[in-house]
Amino acid sequence: MVCQMPETPEQLYARVAESLRMPPVEEWDSFPFDGDMRPRVLRPPVDEEQPRVGHGGVDCPRCQAADGEYQWTAERWRVWTFPKPTGLPLILLLEPRAHYGDPGDLPDELASELGLMIARIERAARSLDGVGRVHVCRWGDGGEHLHWWFIARPARFPQLIGSFATIWDDILPPTPESIWRENLAIVTRALAG
Ligand SMILES: [Zn+2]
Repeated sequence: MVCQMPETPEQLYARVAESLRMPPVEEWDSFPFDGDMRPRVLRPPVDEEQPRVGHGGVDCPRCQAADGEYQWTAERWRVWTFPKPTGLPLILLLEPRAHYGDPGDLPDELASELGLMIARIERAARSLDGVGRVHVCRWGDGGEHLHWWFIARPARFPQLIGSFATIWDDILPPTPESIWRENLAIVTRALAG
């Protein structure tokens, strides 16, 4: 058996930089943009990654936020949203109260509870009228304080399905404030119940 070493970022860059592909986005119903497009030039790898906001729990905005800034809080978990509505009906973010950087850092007890929390929040957000699906996502490259996204997308728009929903969120004009507040209230009540 031939054993290969993992590819370094420099090796990856040398292999791909001149060979980028353009996927057939014009055939993708959910792709939000029209017009001639080409991939951006891939820049070479940096020497090291920048630390994330709140690195090591130092000056972490999520650790410093008071419970009053959250939609819902429990002993070990908190749920928040943005101060203003966005294009999609509702976006919620779930965090452990304590500062952990990545899912694999969670102690087993919290990791187990996380499964219950995900099901509970997804169920609450999906109960909203007009919501077709709730995407549950974790991206870890912004703030270090571990957080999961709950992204509710409207029902019955085939173009708004899938991962581009996060882009459509910036394309659709914001949900009217009164509707958004009502959505939040319904979901918060469901979480509290
Ligand atoms: Zn934190």
